[in-house]
Amino acid sequence: MSERILILGGTKEAVELATQLVNNGHDVTTSLAGRTKEPKLVDGKVRVGGFGGVDGLSSWIEDNKIDRLIDATHPFAEKISKNARLAAKRTNVIFEFRQRPAWQIQPSDKWTIVPDLITARQTIPNGARVFLALGSQYITPFADRRDVHFIIRMIDPPAKHLPFKSHTLLFQRPSPDWNVEADMLKEQNITHIVCRNSGGTGAYAKIEAARSLGLPVIMIERVVP
Ligand code: NAP
Repeated sequence: MSERILILGGTKEAVELATQLVNNGHDVTTSLAGRTKEPKLVDGKVRVGGFGGVDGLSSWIEDNKIDRLIDATHPFAEKISKNARLAAKRTNVIFEFRQRPAWQIQPSDKWTIVPDLITARQTIPNGARVFLALGSQYITPFADRRDVHFIIRMIDPPAKHLPFKSHTLLFQRPSPDWNVEADMLKEQNITHIVCRNSGGTGAYAKIEAARSLGLPVIMIERVVP
């Protein structure tokens, strides 16, 4: 039977899920936060922008007569996932939480697993050259490590001046090929990587590259909802 489905998206997996559900004959709307200038095309309908918290999301579900709510957001998009659970409870809609699995540590990995950004910052040793593999909205807490040189990769130049004492900006996309990532890590004389356990394939090549080079990774774990 065809259902009216709301997917909370913003991930590759959400795009794939929308295609699958549309092909199965469902009436699918994917919701995007609106952070990306040119988001990927998604099958079915798309709505963009915040709902206005749990109240707004609950109203949207009721107004649009949604049968099933699927949270397929990024593992570190914690607020919308919390709102989704609460709104599902309130509206009695069928609820699914689909999160990509976390990366698992392999025998030759040198990970230090930390719970948050602040602990990651404290874990960096003095004088390190750190590849800070985090979205630009997460890098500010590292700025007071004046003893560390940070290498930050971005696609476009930053809108604001970055507050680091010592840093290098690389304007490039992550490569899916770990050899390319390993070359970058060697060229930049990286001693440590700081990243989040996002899971998935898109950002995994740097982890494989670190493994091949024996580089330590300070891995920020996800919050279990
Ligand atoms: P967040 O902190 O969990 O959410 C902040 C607010 O943004 C939410 O309260 C909600 O506003 C709005 N929002 C978030 N996702 C939405 C969605 N799919 N549809 C409509 N509104 C949404 O989220 P975030 O970490 O900023 O991530 C935003 C989006 O980018 C998510 O959809 C996520 O899947 C995607 N994304 C995030 C990351 C990441 O590292 N966090 C990485 C890749 C992709 P209201 O309260 O007004 O409803």
